This record gives sequence, C-alpha cells and structure tokens, in this order.
Amino acid sequence: MKEKFERNIEFHLKDYKAMVKDLFDHPEVGNQEFQSSKKLTDLIKKMGFAVEYPYICPTGFKGEYKAAKAGPTIGFLCEYDALPEVGHGCGHNLIGVMSIAAAVALKEVIEDIGGKIVLFGTPAEENFGGKVEFANHHAFDQVDVAMMLHPATCNQVGARTNALYPVKFEFFGVNAHGAKPFEGRSALDAAVLTYTGISMLRQYCKPNTYIHGVIKNGGSAANVIPAYASMEYYFRAPNMNYAKEIASRAITIAQGAAHQAEVKMEHSIYECPYEDKKINYTLSHKLKQIYEFLGLEDILDVNEIPGGSSDVGAVSYVCPTIEGQIKIAEACVRGHSKEMALATIQENGTKAIVNGGSALALLAYDFITDAQFAKDVMDEFQSQK
Ligand SMILES: [Zn+2]
Ligand SMILES: [Zn+2]
Repeated sequence: MKEKFERNIEFHLKDYKAMVKDLFDHPEVGNQEFQSSKKLTDLIKKMGFAVEYPYICPTGFKGEYKAAKAGPTIGFLCEYDALPEVGHGCGHNLIGVMSIAAAVALKEVIEDIGGKIVLFGTPAEENFGGKVEFANHHAFDQVDVAMMLHPATCNQVGARTNALYPVKFEFFGVNAHGAKPFEGRSALDAAVLTYTGISMLRQYCKPNTYIHGVIKNGGSAANVIPAYASMEYYFRAPNMNYAKEIASRAITIAQGAAHQAEVKMEHSIYECPYEDKKINYTLSHKLKQIYEFLGLEDILDVNEIPGGSSDVGAVSYVCPTIEGQIKIAEACVRGHSKEMALATIQENGTKAIVNGGSALALLAYDFITDAQFAKDVMDEFQSQK
C-alpha cells in the first residue's frame, strides 16, 4: 500500500508543489484566507470530492468522498492561515496540502476497503480557532478519527498543548491635567499594579503554566492623567480548569489594583479559548511505526511538556485525534520565522508532501482495515472521558 500511496502522491506532486508555493506567495492571515480556501477547494473538486464552501466559517470548507461500502469516517484537517510579517512561518500551507495528498491517495482504495473521507478546511488556527468553531457546530461529531501533520524541526508523533484562556482587563478612571493629578484617577496606574501583581502570581502557579500579557492602552499624552487603560492576557495551563483558576486569581488582582487606584475595572474573554490537546497513544504508536516504515529518521515520542496552544485541542475532545510533526527544517530554525516559511517550498517541504501525505493515508488505511487497532483507538479515547 505504501508504494501505491506514494505513486499517487508523486503523480499529483506538480499540482501539490504549485499549491504550496502559491499559498507561500500569497499568504493570508486567519479568517482572511479567501483566496487560499478558494484555491484549495478548486483543487479538491478537481480530485473528485464533493465540496461545501463556505462551511461554518466564511473561509472554511468541507470536502467529502463516500465509498459505496460502509466504513469509518476519516477526518483530515487542513490549515492554511498565515502570520503577519512572516507569511507561512508556521507552515500551514504545507498542512493543507499534506492532508489533501493523503485524502486523494486514500480515495484510490476507499471503494475496496469502505468508509468515508472528509477534508476539513479549518481556518484561523493562529488567532480565532476555526476548529473550535467547527467543533461548536458539531462538524466532528460523526468523525471516527481526525488527523493532521504539522511541519516542524523534528519528526515527532505528537505533542501536548496547553489550554489557553484569554482575558482582557479594562480600567476606567478620571482624566485630569498632568500638573493637577489630584483631580484625576489614573487607569494606567491600575494597569501597572495589575501587571506587577500578576507577575508575582506566576511564582504560585503549578509547572507548565504560562501567563503573558501586554498593556494595549496606557494613555495618550504625558500631561493627561489616563482615564482609560486596557490589558490583554493569555493564561495557559495543562488543562482548562486550571487556566480558568489562574485567570480568576488574576481577576482578583486586577480588582485589588482598581481599588488601590480608585478606578473601575471590567474583564472579558476577548479571543477564543483553546482546550488542551488530548493525546491518543494508540494513534501515536501507529504513526511511529509508519514513520519508521517510510524511512524517516530520529523519530521522537510524544512531547509531554505542554508549551503553546492549538485549536486542535477542541477536536481531540470530540473524537480520537492526532497531530504529528514532520521535519522540514533543522533545529536551529525558529517557529514563526521567514526561514520556516521558506523551508515549505524547498526540497524538505516537497519531501514532506510525499512522506506526510503517505503517512496520513497509511494511518487512515490501518484504521479502516484493522478493526482491533480502530477499537483500541476508540477504547483509549473513551477511557480519557
Ligand atoms: Zn503557529
Ligand atoms: Zn502552526
């Protein structure tokens, strides 16, 4: 089956490479991927998938192919949002294309083995959480397994991610002349006290908790006591309950700061919260075997230390999910960099289309044809509930 999938991907490789390059040349940030989603849906229509577009989000899509013979539903996740300044510095142009390559290769055998292939075009991973929207709209409810690969500086069969809870603080004081400050009440002072207080809170948080924030508004002129100040914070923790607990302690700090500065405080959730990612080790072990079978080297086990966050977490709470990493650049290349973007259109990026596409297709093939493996995946998922 390996040769069959590789042959299929090699056959379409010119189209896939051109797509990766096209998205690289025309990067679009989250929820603005109008051209990117259009190009990807044109490609999957051409490959024989029934397309719903837009789907759930204005730049979201769904592509389906159902075999006459019944079988499991395989979800391949596509990302295609870019970043300001560094374009496809997270390599999402490659994510979309690897998933499409896998789906097209699997389609060649799906009538024999049975099942349904669904390509999910989930926009805005970096900022607005397309997959969270999709999950809220029950897009993954009928999916038996969801999978994707992320370009990286190593080959790895999964990584934990932190839950993320974003909180905005706003302070409302009283303007006054800078030389008559006693007539005013500074919203900025409350923001600075909050910043200092939250910085102290860090020491009393459990490991792998990250708190980072900025003052978005701190006044506009030195000779005006600021009546308004705002701050935006991310609270990241290994699970959502703890992220919320830390956020609630930070809110208490902001209340105290507002009290000290004699101003009013309001807080809100200003972006989409992300769940942590549940790891399915049955899928991870299988992906490792497949990576080895494909000849990939230095394959790392699941990274158990959560750092950043991803909207893939939302999917992992609905169905068994895997997000593996595939190496396209050396360890010295930073994530979210122009160098990482460049790697997607170089030789290693092209290799990733073939290896990554084949790996996902083989993982899906095993899930459909090996009932025990599929059961083990599902049992593990159920046991985590
Ligand atoms: Zn990223
Ligand atoms: Zn990414």
